[in-house]
Amino acid sequence: MDPLNELVSSLKKFPGIGLKSARRIAYYLMRQDTPELERLGSLIAGLKKDLYTCSQCGNVSPQDPCTICSDPLRKKDTLCIVEDIEALSVFEQAGIYNGLYHVLGGRISPASGNDLSDEAAEFLRQHIMKLRPSEVIIATTPRIEGDIAYYTLLDVLQGSHVKKITRLAYGLPLGGSIEFADRVTLHSALEGRRQIM
Ligand SMILES: [Zn+2]
Repeated sequence: MDPLNELVSSLKKFPGIGLKSARRIAYYLMRQDTPELERLGSLIAGLKKDLYTCSQCGNVSPQDPCTICSDPLRKKDTLCIVEDIEALSVFEQAGIYNGLYHVLGGRISPASGNDLSDEAAEFLRQHIMKLRPSEVIIATTPRIEGDIAYYTLLDVLQGSHVKKITRLAYGLPLGGSIEFADRVTLHSALEGRRQIM
């Protein structure tokens, strides 16, 4: 296969990119000069090399502990549990939350066999024991299996001495992913969070 076709078939695997878009991106790249292509190439190569999974929260960052966990200006008494780093980045870009996060590292969907693993549950337990937050916000995506995920999390949080457990209020559509929520919807979901325990 020639390099152009190979690039197109690689780009086609990107989320939301079909054959047409893949071709358009490939032709766009062909028009760039060599230093720019090398810069892009090393950025992509650096994703695995220069980024670390935070040993405290599971976020991905150029440093461990991550830039959020080691930020002295973040409120350390509130912990927001999200499914993945995409959901975390949606919160961060919205700029509506100043506490810490815990990244579960993937969707919990027992219906499709993706239950919260023992390791993930233990990682969360350790984080909470270390941090001792006064509030834990559960920000997993609301859906049928999402609700099972939520009970799984409640199980983990039982006996953790957390004073207050809340869950996002949903203006979000059921089954709608947090990743697609706009800032206003996400903000009202956070403001309207209700206490569970
Ligand atoms: Zn972190």
